[in-house]
Amino acid sequence: MRYPLNFLAILALSIAIVSCSPAEPKPQEATVTAQRAQPMKGVVEDVLSKEEQDALTADMVIQSFKEGNDRFLRNDLTARDHSEQVRKSTLAQFPKAIVLSCVDSRVPVEDVFDRGIGDVFVARVAGNFVNEDILGSMEFACKVSGSKLILVMGHEHCGAVKAAVDDVKLGNITPMLAKIRPTVDKVVYDGDRTSKNDEFVHMVCESNVQHTIEQIRLNSPILKEMEDKGEIKIVGAVYDMDNGKVDFLQ
Ligand SMILES: [Zn+2]
Repeated sequence: MRYPLNFLAILALSIAIVSCSPAEPKPQEATVTAQRAQPMKGVVEDVLSKEEQDALTADMVIQSFKEGNDRFLRNDLTARDHSEQVRKSTLAQFPKAIVLSCVDSRVPVEDVFDRGIGDVFVARVAGNFVNEDILGSMEFACKVSGSKLILVMGHEHCGAVKAAVDDVKLGNITPMLAKIRPTVDKVVYDGDRTSKNDEFVHMVCESNVQHTIEQIRLNSPILKEMEDKGEIKIVGAVYDMDNGKVDFLQ
């Protein structure tokens, strides 16, 4: 059977189109690609560079945290293109600070300071105390990665602090609370020294932050020297769970 030449040409073209079609983006993917090609107006998509990190001082970082917390309080967090930031920070990071926080699910550290990908290291442990591993993480952040600030941030209504106040004993929680317990004993207070007393718990919370800062200076000669030379600052803060405000203790 013989086919006209133009019929064979159309057939070949159809086969070529069909064989190419799997490589074409699906309609939904094509839309996403088109959106990605157009930078979103007013959306932060850059990450901190080494030059930007080098130009920062600890005081500038503290100020940026205070301004970020103001935006958090106003429910005006910066819009960020996380996908773009993930891509841009793949090979390196130059965070401006390391924050030590409690594990509490009600303390979203990056949001509290309106920070994005590549902005801050975050170490978390119930009761925001330091041990060898967290000190190592802080030394990595500051000495190796160039961060300018160590912020120890406690928070109101902290379950770990309350448990330490009440001297709770339970499994591995017992040795964990032993790290916080000295800060309870340090607080001079004549009233009710139980977790039922919010005033006393608040005092222990602040005492715990100050104690952690002292432990950093005492047990990390590297960080102590960096602080003495003015290369970094080590400061404390308390997050107020009632309104989202961070009060810096300095
Ligand atoms: Zn807590």
